[in-house]
Amino acid sequence: LPDLKDKVALITGAGSGIGRATAIMFAQQGMKVCLVDLKDERREQTKQEIAAAGGQCITVDVDISDPARVEEAYAQTVKTWGRLDVVFANAGINGVLAPIEDMKPEDWDRTLSVNLKGTFFCVKYAIPHMKKQGGSIIVTSSINGSRAFSGFGMTAYSTSKAGQVAFAKMASLELARYKIRVNAICPGSIETNIGENTKPTPELEKIKIPVKYPEGSQPLEHAAGQPEQVASLVAFLASDASNHITGTELFIDGAESLL
Ligand code: NAD
Repeated sequence: LPDLKDKVALITGAGSGIGRATAIMFAQQGMKVCLVDLKDERREQTKQEIAAAGGQCITVDVDISDPARVEEAYAQTVKTWGRLDVVFANAGINGVLAPIEDMKPEDWDRTLSVNLKGTFFCVKYAIPHMKKQGGSIIVTSSINGSRAFSGFGMTAYSTSKAGQVAFAKMASLELARYKIRVNAICPGSIETNIGENTKPTPELEKIKIPVKYPEGSQPLEHAAGQPEQVASLVAFLASDASNHITGTELFIDGAESLL
């Protein structure tokens, strides 16, 4: 594995799924990790698991759509460890799934506020700390950002995920002068808790969703991927082993997006 020892990272959505697996992998590699999530007992479990294994982490309650809380998370990270090397801007929601004609403006706004504006805040407030020595920012987008295959109701989600890729690419150009790299990762179906707060509207339930293949199947594994598989990619992008990679989007989906 690439050398990550002593790097300082902030991870959003660290209480569950991809963020949690990455936080544990980072800590196992000797990184110091700020675990950012909503006030959530799962995030505390992640913290306890890392601490029990001798890793170093702090936790901060943050709704990433609140810029003041994002700023505070960086302030606490730098106050604790004196620097910031890696940001994994990963937290995201499916939000309310509805056909476009039934989508409430406030439900559209919430999905975009968390997934897209939250990513903007996570990058914006990292810059003052990271530009001193450079670093790596990894944004979790999705194959949904460029492939319309997941059925109806995902327009807000998919729009936010496409926006994240565009944002990461523009940010990579702008921040190259500080030696800050910015990349987007695009996972396919990964076994996490993302579906648990997903709310399909009754209108959506009435629409037949065309599915070309059994849900979750991927050519490589014939099953959804695991968060740890995504964490390995994030670890590579966080490390200096990837120091010529910036402004790109990397698919990690077992070829699901090619079906
Ligand atoms: P998850 O629900 O297991 O984890 C997401 C975490 O983000 C949760 O702990 C949640 O509390 C946190 N979170 C949600 N809203 C937040 C907010 N406003 N502020 C702070 N934290 C917040 O889901 P996951 O699948 O691990 O999702 C991580 C990322 O991966 C998301 O951006 C998601 O869109 C993306 N993704 C997931 C899949 C998949 O199939 N699971 C596929 C492609 C992309």
